[in-house]
Amino acid sequence: MTDDRRAELAEALAGLRARIDAACAAAGRRADEVRLLPVTKTFPATDIALLAELGMTEFGENRDQEARAKAEELREPAPRLHMIGNVQRNKARSVTRWASVVQTVDSPRLADAFTKAVAAAREAGERDGPLEVLIQASIDGDPARGGSPLPDLPALADHVARSEQLELRGVMTVAPRFWEPERAFAALAESAAKVLLDHPNAVEISAGMSQDLEAAIAHGSTLVRVGTSLLGGRRLASL
Ligand SMILES: *Cc1c(COP(=O)(O)O)cnc(C)c1O
Repeated sequence: MTDDRRAELAEALAGLRARIDAACAAAGRRADEVRLLPVTKTFPATDIALLAELGMTEFGENRDQEARAKAEELREPAPRLHMIGNVQRNKARSVTRWASVVQTVDSPRLADAFTKAVAAAREAGERDGPLEVLIQASIDGDPARGGSPLPDLPALADHVARSEQLELRGVMTVAPRFWEPERAFAALAESAAKVLLDHPNAVEISAGMSQDLEAAIAHGSTLVRVGTSLLGGRRLASL
């Protein structure tokens, strides 16, 4: 069973790497400018362990409870987990127990909740350093799916950067459902450029998923978040 799954994941990973390399070549970018973040939501911790054996060190999760349970199972070596799902403010404290990076900070109030949560977690000896944060951009400004409207990004970035508990690392987005990916990621690139210029330590543009990673790479993505193309279809309902 495990051997079969391991072979399946190894093959999918090789295919995905080839896809990413080809997209980088087409965009005139070096292959090492784009990292792959496997999105392991709904898949068991054993898949994370297998992907870790295949060299992956960071993984994306979108639910607090599920990710916490996996983090408990995977202590040695502990993977770096990214929270890529929307977070309610009252969950910030829990998320800080397992997440190395939160990609979905989309308001000053949520940033403040994380500042308090990280301070409490450090005081309790539950974590060492600050929390790495990407601010989530909403390209179409529709609040329903999370994300900050593009015109608000610079102020949100400044707000995060002022927190001693948070480390601004960049910008993240999910392309709006009915938009052409090229147009969506071009819009993000323009807004992200300002943020990255103002904050030299913020270098990450987290954009692109199974369906649209080529377009995201063409527009400067440094981190593609891939679930389906790597792990297969998700049985459980999820985002
Ligand atoms: C699920 C998810 C992904 C991965 O999506 P796939 O289409 O399965 O590659 C990427 N980003 C976010 C925010 C997600 O929720």
